Amino acid sequence: MTKKEYADFLLPNVTHTKEEYEQMYQKRNLDKSAIVTRFAPSPTGFVHLGSLFTSFVSRRFATQTNGVCLLRIEDTDTKRTVENGIEEIIESLKNYGIVFDEGAISETEEVGAYGPYIQSKRKDIYSAFAKYLIENDLAYPCFMTESELEEIRKKQEDIKARIGIYGVYAKFRNISIEEAKERIDKGEKYIIRFKSPGNFENKVTVNDAIRGSLEFPENDLDIVIIKSDGLPTYHFAHLVDDHLMGVTHVIRADEWLSSLPIHIQLFDTFGYDRPIYAHLSPLTKKEGNTIRKLSKRKDPELAVSYYHEEGIPNEAVKIYIMTIANSNFEEWQIAKPNKDYNDFVLSFDKVSTSGSLFDLEKLTSISKEYLSKISAEALYNDTLKYTEEFDRDFYDLLTKYKDYTIKVLNIEREIERPRKDIESYKAVKREISYMYDELFDKDTTTYEHKDFYSKELLNYYIDNVYDENDDKQTWFSKIKEMCSKFGFTEDTKEYKKNPENYKGSVAHVCEIIRVCVTHRVMTPDLYEILKLLGKDRIKERIEKFDI
Ligand code: GLU
Repeated sequence: MTKKEYADFLLPNVTHTKEEYEQMYQKRNLDKSAIVTRFAPSPTGFVHLGSLFTSFVSRRFATQTNGVCLLRIEDTDTKRTVENGIEEIIESLKNYGIVFDEGAISETEEVGAYGPYIQSKRKDIYSAFAKYLIENDLAYPCFMTESELEEIRKKQEDIKARIGIYGVYAKFRNISIEEAKERIDKGEKYIIRFKSPGNFENKVTVNDAIRGSLEFPENDLDIVIIKSDGLPTYHFAHLVDDHLMGVTHVIRADEWLSSLPIHIQLFDTFGYDRPIYAHLSPLTKKEGNTIRKLSKRKDPELAVSYYHEEGIPNEAVKIYIMTIANSNFEEWQIAKPNKDYNDFVLSFDKVSTSGSLFDLEKLTSISKEYLSKISAEALYNDTLKYTEEFDRDFYDLLTKYKDYTIKVLNIEREIERPRKDIESYKAVKREISYMYDELFDKDTTTYEHKDFYSKELLNYYIDNVYDENDDKQTWFSKIKEMCSKFGFTEDTKEYKKNPENYKGSVAHVCEIIRVCVTHRVMTPDLYEILKLLGKDRIKERIEKFDI
C-alpha cells in the first residue's frame, strides 16, 4: 500500500485534494491594510455578551479597514448544536447592527465565495487536508479507547506529568500501515492524530495584536485532528478554514491562548502564513472582593436576550461595548461630544489585556444619557415596539393616547439639561404611569402622609387658583400668593430661618399638589404635568386624594 492508498483507506470518499481546494479558494483582492476577520460561534442557542463583544469588535475592525467580516458556524460538536441556533445568532447580532459580508444568512442559506461557511458542510475539505498530512507522515490513525485515554490521564496526574498524548504516550505514532489496516479490517474504531514535529524544550514566539510578544514552549502534543465521526476538531478546522477563507486576523476569546502553539505549528507545517491573532479578555464581574468571569448560570445579564427583555436600547449597549473595547473611547467622547461613536477608530493596542469589568450601573447611566437625548417621538416609537412584545396592557394605552404620550415624554426633553430618569423602554411605564388614569387609579404606591398635607388647600387651589391658560411664571406666582392663606411662606429662605413659624414653604405646597396628582414626591416639571392632565382630571384626583 502506498502512502496515498493508505490515506484513501483511512479517509475514503474524499472528492478533492488539498491542492484542488487551494486552487478553488482564490487569494482575496483587497488593500494591504484590509482586515479579513470572522466571527465563528457554535450554534448552541445561547448568544452571550462575550459573543456580542467579539463580533462587534470584529465587525468594526473589518469596516474600518474596508475589509471583510464573515460569519462561520462552528457546528462540529454536534452534541452542542441546537435547532435554529444559527438564526438566533444572526437575528440577535442584527439587532446590534452587526451584519456580515459573507457567511450563513439563515439555517440553510449563505452568501460569499469562500464557503461553505457552516463547518459540518466542509467535511470533505478537512478530510482532504488530513489526507495530505497522512501522505506526508504527519498524521496517523490512533486506536486508543476512551478507557485507555483515561488511564493515561490518571497516570499523568499521579506522576505530575503534562497531560496529553505526546512522547511515550503517543502509542500509535509510529504504527505501520499493515498494523493499521489489520485493526481497521477487524472493525476497530480510530481517530486521526497530528504527528507533532515539535519539541517541548524549544520556545516559540507569537506576536498577539493585543498582548504583544508571547513566548510558549513548542507544541509536542499529537492532537486529534479528525474525530471518530469524521468531523474535525476546532484546532484543525481553524487552520483549514482561516487559511482557505483568507482570514488575516483571528479575533477571538483568550480561552484559546493556550492552544496557540498548536495553531501556529499547524500553519507552519502546511507552510501557510500565520494569521495575526488578537485575543480578547473575558468580561468579568466584581463580587465582593473578588473578580470572576461572567457566568451563564449566575449572571442573567450575560445573555444578550437580557438587554432586549429589559428594554435597554441597542445603541446604549453598543456605546457601552465601545467603552470596554478601547480604553481611550470615553476620553474621545468627552473631547468630541458631538461626534457619532461610529466615528471612533478602534485600535488593538487599546484593548484591555486583563479582564474587562462588566458594569451594569455604567450601562444604565449610558442608557439614561442616550434616552435623554432622543426625541419624544423616537422614544414613543421604541417604547411602543418594546411593549408590543413585553407589556400588552401598556401597549394598548400607548396606542390609544399616542399624541398625549408624546407630549408626556417631551416634558423636560429637548432642553439643555434633559430629564435622565428613564434607563430603558421598560422603565418608561414606571416613570410616567401616573399620567394615565387607567394606571393611576390602580396605583398602589404608598406615599408618606405628612402633617402639612391639606385637602382644604388642594380644593381651594383647584377651585380658585388654578387656570389652565396661565403660563409657567403666572402659575407659580399664584401658588406663591396662596401660601400665606394656609400658613405657608412663599419664601424658602425665610422658612429655613424660621421653620417654627410656618407649616412649610412654597416647596411644600408644590409637594402637596405633586403628591396628590402623581403619588410621588419627585417628578419632572409639575407645571407641565398639570397642564397635560387638565383641570378636570386634577380635580378628580384631588377628590380621590386620600389624606
Ligand atoms: N467556535 C469557537 C468558539 O465559539 C470560535 C473561536 C474562534 O473565534 O476561533 O469559541
